Formats: sequence, structure tokens, C-alpha cells
Amino acid sequence: MINKSDCDWLHVDIMDGFFVPNISFGFPVLKYVAELCKKPLDVHLMIVQPEKFINEVKGLGAFTMNVHYEACPHLHRVIQQIKEAGMKAGVTLNPATPVSTLSDIICDVDLVMLMSVNPGFGGQKFIMHTLDKVRELRKMITERSATALIEVDGGVNRETGRQLCQAGVDVLVAGSAVFKASDPIKEINILKNIHA
Ligand code: ZN
Repeated sequence: MINKSDCDWLHVDIMDGFFVPNISFGFPVLKYVAELCKKPLDVHLMIVQPEKFINEVKGLGAFTMNVHYEACPHLHRVIQQIKEAGMKAGVTLNPATPVSTLSDIICDVDLVMLMSVNPGFGGQKFIMHTLDKVRELRKMITERSATALIEVDGGVNRETGRQLCQAGVDVLVAGSAVFKASDPIKEINILKNIHA
């Protein structure tokens, strides 16, 4: 279904039961996903010490590797290591982490992902304050002439997707809105064609 759809990337959440209070799946499973999926993989590591798995993520043929700001005391080094491995480097912020914390790294990253729910579970309600954070991040990127894409993950559907596009987002991650829809391919097409 995903291969036949209009989606640009396949976003996968890896949870370790430590950084987030849940466990999803690991690299042996993702290896088969990567073999079957024709879309670029956007890998979101909701784990502590994500730098230990750069080679594994690279081994999947991932397009982007997203690490959490809160999980990386040496974020600048991790970003460089991801880029050296040939992947796009993304940094993710939890809902309570301010956008301003990125001011010294915004020109080094390829992507910033804002969590619009607390990471660890699907099907949560969108945190509306994320819209303010997207506007603030868009302003920072413009002012610093940075090229980072803005991605939002959590509670994205037709309605919140429209509001996010108006606020200046580049990439929408949708889980439940797609996979609980009666016609997932149609739902992806609708989300893809949201205009600000
Ligand atoms: Zn995610």
C-alpha cells in the first residue's frame, strides 16, 4: 500500500523502553521493511545513545536519521557523524523542549522535527502549541539563512495538517490518520495535497 501511495517517505519510530516508555521494533525487523519498501526511510530514533546505531541505520539504506536533542549531550558531534555516514541529519525536539535551544546548531542540521505529542505511543491528541513552535522555527531558519526542513510528528490529520502547513511546516508525519482510515491511499493523497 505504501509503495503504491503518494507518500514521499516512510517514517519509522524506533522505541527502546528507556528514552520512551514503550518498545516498538529493532533493526532485524526494519531490515525486512527496508527490503520491501520503495520509499526513502525516515528513521526516528526514540532511544538513548542513538550515536551507537549510526551504522545500523545506514545499513538499512535510510535517507534520514533523526535523533532526539534530549538524548544527545554531544549533539554537534552526532550530527557530523550522521552526515559522514551519508545520511541526512535530523534533530527532534520533545514538546517541552524550546525551539530556541537549536540556535547554535540550526545551520548544521538537514531537518528539525518537532514532536506534537509526547513520544512513545500512537493515537495521541495534537498539542496546539506546536503551531507556535513551527512559526518560531521558520523565523529562525529564515533569519539564519539555514536550509533545514521542518517536520512535525504526532497527531497529524487533515485539520492539524492544514494548520501546520499554514504555520510553515515542510514535512508531515501521519500515523493513525492514515492507518486507521478506511482508504489509506486516498488519505495519503489528501494529506499530500494540503496547501497552506
Ligand atoms: Zn516519529
